Amino acid sequence: MNKIQMKTPLVEMDGDEMTRILWKMIKDELILPFIDLKSEYYDLGLENRNETDDKVTFDSAYATEKYGVAVKCATITPNAARVAEYNLKEMWKSPNGTIRAILDGTVFRAPIIVKGIEPCVKNWKAPITIARHAYGDVYKASEMKIPRPGKVELVYTAEDGSTDSVLVHEFDSAGIVQGMHNLEPSIESFAKSCFNYALDTKQTLWFATKDTISKKYDHTFKDIFNEIFEAEYKEKFDEAGIDYFYTLIDDAVARVMKSEGGFIWACKNYDGDVMSDMLSSAFGSLAMMTSVLVSPSGVYEYEAAHGTVQRHYYKHLKGEETSTNSVATIFAWTGALRKRGELDKIPELIDFADKLEASTISTIESGKMTKDLALITSLKKVTVLNSENFIKAIRETLEHNL
Ligand code: NAP
Ligand code: MG
Repeated sequence: MNKIQMKTPLVEMDGDEMTRILWKMIKDELILPFIDLKSEYYDLGLENRNETDDKVTFDSAYATEKYGVAVKCATITPNAARVAEYNLKEMWKSPNGTIRAILDGTVFRAPIIVKGIEPCVKNWKAPITIARHAYGDVYKASEMKIPRPGKVELVYTAEDGSTDSVLVHEFDSAGIVQGMHNLEPSIESFAKSCFNYALDTKQTLWFATKDTISKKYDHTFKDIFNEIFEAEYKEKFDEAGIDYFYTLIDDAVARVMKSEGGFIWACKNYDGDVMSDMLSSAFGSLAMMTSVLVSPSGVYEYEAAHGTVQRHYYKHLKGEETSTNSVATIFAWTGALRKRGELDKIPELIDFADKLEASTISTIESGKMTKDLALITSLKKVTVLNSENFIKAIRETLEHNL
């Protein structure tokens, strides 16, 4: 069989622990036998980040800007225990944080639907994708405890020294106060990423805030979305046969529960944090979830939503058998290969990505799965496979499908 040829390299960001083990197995069994892989490889494993003073993370993000598509393995975000474990020079920052700051994007997460892993909400027939704004609000807030009665004001001092202020509250007891912000360019890029992703995936887009209560803050989000939609996207949405609609966040939550799924739900930072955990657990598992960072300039970074599965890795190091679910990491690869195929007009690459995804799903639906899924499936005849044999079972299905 002739291997599929690529034109432009994929930016490949290797990672840590169990997902690094899966990464190699996926490449060896599911990618390299079928594709003449062109990739620019960056080793984001913690040892190499430490050795390069984290330069490798920055370089991988710049390479993503240059080539347009990256696939990333889960990586350790060091804490004090990791600094000791890996003898680190510094407590390096989260690679996802670094990459996001450079690419300026929105993270889209969607559940992977298979028969036998049913959502708790029985009318959900198609995936619901969360688009989470990843900047500002309560995540960049300043807070204060107010110890006793007194007045709190918000004061804005312009560059020319002129000021404007607003009363927050006249406290007649002890209390608490919080000041948060967001930036128009960040909200604009969030909106554009959402509109582009909706067009890309041909799904209707919902956006919701609490603008009736927050008449300046949340209302600005609503206005920016509406202005950009009317000016740049309305016609394209009409052509694609999809809609954009805005509603109040409480209305959105009620509608989501009654919906059949199959749309994108854009959320402010906090809403996205909370709602994506609700959706992922209601749909099944973090290991059955795709995750892609989309920048407003049209750069894509595909990853798994879960971490490096440390507990399984330590079992693996002790020579014990593991049954780690590789689906999210496989779908990171297929997402990136498909996007590369679309950008470079390589239909065989798109077709391969489709078939690898379909083979992964049908392998699970035939009853062959990892332990995490076996615990929640409604299928009666189930074979629990170890990490390696699950990937080999997918290869068997794939070879049959190609
Ligand atoms: P984790 O890797 O997501 O795993 C937490 C637990 O979830 C596992 O112990 C396992 O449960 C289950 N699980 C997660 N993924 C699974 C899979 N693919 N197959 C089967 N079970 C899976 O989180 P963590 O162990 O708390 O974090 C480990 C490291 O990951 C940390 O250093 C953190 O910084 C990093 N992290 C990276 C990313 C990223 O790069 N995207 C995201 C989050 C965390 P059982 O043990 O019960 O089987
Ligand atoms: Mg969270």
